[in-house]
Amino acid sequence: MVLHMTCRHCGHKGQIKARDLARTHGFGTDPRTLSFRCSRCDMRNCIVRVMEEIRR
Ligand SMILES: [Zn+2]
Repeated sequence: MVLHMTCRHCGHKGQIKARDLARTHGFGTDPRTLSFRCSRCDMRNCIVRVMEEIRR
């Protein structure tokens, strides 16, 4: 599972693997309830989408 984030403020996009998120926030955390901080503009104003699979 991968989380896709889009910053509403600057449009910066990022991805976080759910496995990495679980390492920092703990297992069983609903990623949609977390407030992610944009790594570019430092605003906590991100749209989070949960993607189950990635195809490359
Ligand atoms: Zn931003």
